[in-house]
Amino acid sequence: MITKRITALRKPRFEYDRVEAVLPEHRSVSTPGEVTLYLEVATPEPAIYKGLLTSEKGEKVKTGQKISLSGDSGQYVVSTVTGAVSSISIHTGDFDKSYIAISIRAEGEEVFDEQFEKFALNPTLDTARDFLSCAPGKPPLHASFGSEKSIQTIVVCGVDSDIFISTNRYGVTTQFNAIKKGIHILKTITGVDNIILAVPQDVMHGYTGIDALVKAVPIRYPATLPKMMMQNLLGQVVPVGKNVEDLGVSFFSAEAVASIGIAFKGGRIPVSKRLTLIGKDGGTTLLSVRIGTPLRDIFEASNIILNEKDRIVLGGPMRGAAIYSEDHTVLSDTDAIMVQDKNNLPYVSDDPCINCGECVRICPAKIQVNMLVRYIEAGHYEESADQYDLHSCIECGLCSFVCVAKIPVFQHIRLAKFELSRMDTAEANHA
Ligand code: SF4
Ligand code: SF4
Repeated sequence: MITKRITALRKPRFEYDRVEAVLPEHRSVSTPGEVTLYLEVATPEPAIYKGLLTSEKGEKVKTGQKISLSGDSGQYVVSTVTGAVSSISIHTGDFDKSYIAISIRAEGEEVFDEQFEKFALNPTLDTARDFLSCAPGKPPLHASFGSEKSIQTIVVCGVDSDIFISTNRYGVTTQFNAIKKGIHILKTITGVDNIILAVPQDVMHGYTGIDALVKAVPIRYPATLPKMMMQNLLGQVVPVGKNVEDLGVSFFSAEAVASIGIAFKGGRIPVSKRLTLIGKDGGTTLLSVRIGTPLRDIFEASNIILNEKDRIVLGGPMRGAAIYSEDHTVLSDTDAIMVQDKNNLPYVSDDPCINCGECVRICPAKIQVNMLVRYIEAGHYEESADQYDLHSCIECGLCSFVCVAKIPVFQHIRLAKFELSRMDTAEANHA
């Protein structure tokens, strides 16, 4: 039972930096000696997948070549270098997700796979789904355009989903022609006429000749999150337990749309990803790196020295997730990497809530966060959803940021959602 429905989201204010008049050049990180790509699978059992990959250890692959599992799972990765498969192993990611980690050692002169080129002249949704699902920006072609979805609106996000990140804000300007092409193709292959380009409010000029309605998004956090944009741009509130696709809306990052434009225009799947590197001093740099590049290579190229107990975060300060190894690689939707010095880590504690109410006042979803966190900490996940609106949370992270007792509220919320989804899956499997 849901006790409270969101009627409208509040508007807390955390301003982004204004976009500079002179756009910063992104810096390209050299192609690494080895990339590692992650193919999501259902079970962490190597024996199940043995011999089923289209490219096995020792086999040669070209840049842009698909590697998939035999069968009809539809999952694949795209090699971002030319070389040979050097290792295949099982990797466990966040929240117990299982992946086949496929490492490819770069060798010899770069050669591009030509399979996609044959289809690029006549763009179709099937071609886009079959080749571009792990292109830079990770176009949600499967999630949004699966058979049961009925999408009527596409929102192209020229804004970023965390503070300090400028990957899409700058991308919407510097990759404008590719985005324009990508929007045109998206319209053609999906049949969706209503396309909105969401751009930062401080840069509302220069979007001429684009086949989309341009709308301004306030440059304050969390106005840039999809559920906030649903309300502010489309006047729709996502009901509890539903997602934006259930309301017929699909969100693409500006980079994902640029990837579609670049791929169909040139006949090659793009393999380099733009991201914002946030250094220990909070300074940011825009980088272009091959998907699959180990973070170690990026730090080396950026003169970042990691010391023991420094923290690496994939994402930004509000919503990012800490990772524990420099061997982790850049994914197709990694928009930011943040490095925090061990002496400046945000303090977290297991002190009890002092009921100050700061989290309640800042929560854009108007959740009684102080009560929610009590239930979650006690492991009462179902009650936290039924009585304190866990599923209304839009995952902005502001509650953690303001918590006086330094309780990692947001992390508790994510864990609770994960545990509930695991229980739902287990129940469905035994039904
Ligand atoms: S993360 Fe915290 S502040 Fe943000 S919506 Fe969820 S409960 Fe509210
Ligand atoms: S901000 Fe922290 S201490 Fe204050 S009410 Fe919320 S959870 Fe409790």
